Amino acid sequence: LPAIFEPARPVLQKIEDAGYEAYFVGGCVRDTILHDEIHDIDIATSAYPSEIKTIFNHTVDTGIEHGTVMILDHGTGYETTTFRTESGYQDYRRPDKVTFVRSLSEDLQRRDFTINALALREDGEVIDLFNGLEDLQKHLIKAVGNPNERFHEDALRMMRAVRFASKLDFVIDTATLKGIKENAPLLEKIAVERIRVELEKLLLGQNPVAGLKDFIATGLYYYCPGLENAQDALSALLILNQWHLENEAQLWSVLSLQLQLDQKEIGKFLKKWKTANDLIAQVKKVVPAVQAIRQRALTPSLMFNTGETALHDANQVAKLYGWAINDEELQKAYQKLPIKNAKELAIDGRVLITKAGVKPGPLMGKILQQLTLAVVNGEIANNATTLLKKVEEITKEG
Ligand code: ATP
Ligand code: MG
Repeated sequence: LPAIFEPARPVLQKIEDAGYEAYFVGGCVRDTILHDEIHDIDIATSAYPSEIKTIFNHTVDTGIEHGTVMILDHGTGYETTTFRTESGYQDYRRPDKVTFVRSLSEDLQRRDFTINALALREDGEVIDLFNGLEDLQKHLIKAVGNPNERFHEDALRMMRAVRFASKLDFVIDTATLKGIKENAPLLEKIAVERIRVELEKLLLGQNPVAGLKDFIATGLYYYCPGLENAQDALSALLILNQWHLENEAQLWSVLSLQLQLDQKEIGKFLKKWKTANDLIAQVKKVVPAVQAIRQRALTPSLMFNTGETALHDANQVAKLYGWAINDEELQKAYQKLPIKNAKELAIDGRVLITKAGVKPGPLMGKILQQLTLAVVNGEIANNATTLLKKVEEITKEG
């Protein structure tokens, strides 16, 4: 077993010593077999939450109604979930009522894909009830059981399929793909935040083109906010082969660029996806910067207004399209800016009031803006005397 499992083994052993079963399950097992990096370890057990809490002294109720208890052991937390079945699916969404069961096989049966339905014993033995190992080897994403039924139970699984296609660079099994095509409209029942997580993971995955292709071909895109008419815009991404996207700001900028959205439309589009406001602000900076990079029209004031991180994001996006400029040159150009933000200006509103007799109000804001622009453009030096002289000129003109 990879080293990451080692500290968790005594935890599983302790559960077994108490007379219950315990396994590593889900993504961590899949990724171990694929020799991929493992980010979190999930443990499934036949012990009920109350039983886990009598076995261990230090636990936290992280999701006890779903059977999840965190065991604290030597400063590390291990999420442990009781074997469960999910029944009474309503509205094609994951039910919030679950039934705890004692059998591993029932727990594995409710999982989405065969490659995600593997369990690993603490001694290294793999429990594979649905041919997940073979599908891992074949690089196949295949629903556990009948795809139709599984997507009816939880329509989010369709998005998960296309995101795993990208994340793992796997192919979706034919019957599973057919199931997605037939049930794609059910995606409308799913909360947009949950769809967003999967779409983001898709675009940040190993093979976004593969995931996107399925996202388009299955018609899933049609049931996503703001993408109803985006078939062509999305398809145009399929010929791009330099995917280096690193974060949400970059991927939402790509989508905004494809959809040719202006500033206002970017805001509307991202609000539909219920993204955070600071992400919207960032995308609104990245998109024009990408266009400026493309046209080799990066001016000092545009760099100043964009800021360092959005500039980096913009160049990263530009790489996808083959428009990027050299990262170091960009960095150098940015560093050459006389000031990097408005606070670095040698005078502020208070000085304007005391030394230049300017009254607080809209005019003051305008003056500060003009000063900032002049300094950024290298027209005047950033020292109080020079700036105050400039203020005099401006107020005379005004
Ligand atoms: P990642 O590496 O992206 O976290 P993961 O496989 O761990 O991938 P999670 O969303 O963390 O994905 O879910 C953990 C496990 O729970 C999955 O491997 C799968 O067995 C099960 N699972 C998660 N979501 C669903 C779902 N909607 N339907 C059925 N099973 C699910
Ligand atoms: Mg996980």
